[in-house]
Amino acid sequence: MPSRSALFSQRSLILTLLILLACGFLATSLLSYFASRGAIRDGIVNTELPLTSDTVYSEIQKDLVRPVLISSMMAQDTFVRDWALGGEQDPERITRYLDEVMGKQSTFTTFFVSDRTRIYYQAKGVLKRVELNEPRDTWYFRLKAMSAPYEINVDIDMANQDTLTVFINHRVLDYQDRFIGAAGVGLSVQTVVRLIDTYQQRYQRSVFFVDPQGKVLLTGSGGGPHGLRVGQRLADRPELSDLLAQMPTPSGGSHEYQDSEGHSHFLNVRLVPELNWYLMVDKRENGALDRIRQSLYLNLAICAMITLVVLSLLNAMVKRHQDNTEAIASLDSLTGLPNRRSFDLLAGQALQNAARDHAPLVALLFDLDHFKALNDNHGHLAGDEVLRQFAQVLQGSLRQSDILCRWGGEEFLVLLRNVDGPQALAVAEKIRERCEQLAFNFASKPLRLTTSIGLSSLQPDDTLDNLIARADHALYRAKQGGRNRVCTDMPLADHE
Ligand code: GH3
Ligand code: MG
Ligand code: MG
Repeated sequence: MPSRSALFSQRSLILTLLILLACGFLATSLLSYFASRGAIRDGIVNTELPLTSDTVYSEIQKDLVRPVLISSMMAQDTFVRDWALGGEQDPERITRYLDEVMGKQSTFTTFFVSDRTRIYYQAKGVLKRVELNEPRDTWYFRLKAMSAPYEINVDIDMANQDTLTVFINHRVLDYQDRFIGAAGVGLSVQTVVRLIDTYQQRYQRSVFFVDPQGKVLLTGSGGGPHGLRVGQRLADRPELSDLLAQMPTPSGGSHEYQDSEGHSHFLNVRLVPELNWYLMVDKRENGALDRIRQSLYLNLAICAMITLVVLSLLNAMVKRHQDNTEAIASLDSLTGLPNRRSFDLLAGQALQNAARDHAPLVALLFDLDHFKALNDNHGHLAGDEVLRQFAQVLQGSLRQSDILCRWGGEEFLVLLRNVDGPQALAVAEKIRERCEQLAFNFASKPLRLTTSIGLSSLQPDDTLDNLIARADHALYRAKQGGRNRVCTDMPLADHE
């Protein structure tokens, strides 16, 4: 049986190894996971999104900033002001002027609204009059009431099949800074929308512009993030609640948020100062992080398997080593027979069983005759070889159930179970005769040897020591009697 301390040390060895392997594997797997995740995030946050933002930004600058300058130039043009102040004579003059400006700037529509007559002039002629209670004309009255010199308004253009248009509405003032009308340009944002569409579709990222209150001003033709349309507010979408918690009003920089479905988003925000708009580029983390998370799990599973295999191999090795050590500790190294220690355990059990079952039990104590002389004459190695061969003779003459051991030097002890005195005597005689007749063999030399045997039978209330002491006594008598004989501890008739 393995001792408690051996078991404990085996368990603590395996536990220590388990902890070491688990820590090592966990540390390397987690480190590489976080490194790859960091690299992916860095790529998105520091490269991908800013690049998209830069491209869209330069496009919007080209498309919107220039028109702001043109509308400002129109509002300050002395011709426009003089013509309006002069009673709007000859409308052809203003429409030609508007056409001229529009022609130079290709896709624009240009307009002038006079505050005195409320007439809306554009390049093709007079379009209409602006009315106070007409919803489409609210922009004009808003502009009139404004203190800022201009506003940018995304609206539909009635003069151009109601296409989505960005209007730059500029206040026109007379020479005493009194409001006399509105001038400006309207432009189709198709180029920007097409660019946004490309980014949205090809690179799975949302590009959109919001005003400082978070209202969407411009996005792709299919809508912005989470289906947001122009005119809606970020706050209208429950998916953006996390983002709005981080950023109630737009603020530049990189942001990370989780939508209501638990997807991670990276968001780059930059101010377009010329327009006071915020350009936002949003990318949903689409599987790249999932993939490295999966590879982390796979990694960990492989590590766990390797740990299990290593530990079970180690366990098997330690167990085999322990079994060997135990076997060595309980066997006599010369003859391979059980030694006195293991004999004590087996014999104690055998005695208990015999007492319980009232079964007979006999002890035979063997002592080789004149063994010292054999050693002296043929050498110690010859003695060793004879002891080995004698142990084999003993083993070969006994049953599986009998217990035998090397008692010491050239003495052997045998317990015969369920055997009465006469039967045991027959067994002892048989062994004695075999030994006498056998030529032991050492270095091809035949060696002759006899053995004396003392026999004792288990008595009620006998201890193992008593039983052996009587066998020893009988052996003494066998030696005294001239050796090469079997003596019993008492007349066998007593047992029968
Ligand atoms: P007797 O007939 O009275 O038993 O004579 P004996 O010579 O056998 O008796 P004794 O007990 O004096 O000697 C036993 C010898 O056995 C002495 C010892 O050197 C030898 N011996 C004990 N163990 C070993 C062993 O492992 N190998 C060898 N070669 N000799 C051993
Ligand atoms: Mg002896
Ligand atoms: Mg002897």
